[in-house]
Amino acid sequence: MTDWTLAGCTGDPEAMYEDGAAAIAYNRRVCAACPIRAACLQRALDLREPWGMWGGLTPRERDDLLNPAPRRMAERNLKPCGTAAAARRHQRRGEPVCPPCRQAAACDKQERWPHQAAGHAASRSRRLEREKSAA
Ligand code: SF4
Ligand SMILES: [Zn+2]
Repeated sequence: MTDWTLAGCTGDPEAMYEDGAAAIAYNRRVCAACPIRAACLQRALDLREPWGMWGGLTPRERDDLLNPAPRRMAERNLKPCGTAAAARRHQRRGEPVCPPCRQAAACDKQERWPHQAAGHAASRSRRLEREKSAA
């Protein structure tokens, strides 16, 4: 069994979804030092996880590992807004992600990575507490 509490990223769960060269380079270092990196990558591959960096690889790099041809063809069958696939498409195209797509993407992430969702909830409640004590 993988002990997900060892995940190097649980302290800052949202960070693994950030784009941009600096964030990706930083996340790669976090993953490189993570004791469950291999299991994490395997899970991301098994799930065909479309979001974020897992096991040190970006979605694009994981796609390439998985032999992307059939998947890219399937994506031409465009999904409507309010689905994770449509949210991904907005991101690929550099468009703002519309609210229904944003919500679909958030549900998608939480279903796949419960430890991340837990970390997210924890960091959100810490933030709320900070805001409350600042008010
Ligand atoms: S390998 Fe997976 S669990 Fe470990 S830090 Fe990277 S994304 Fe998090
Ligand atoms: Zn949309």
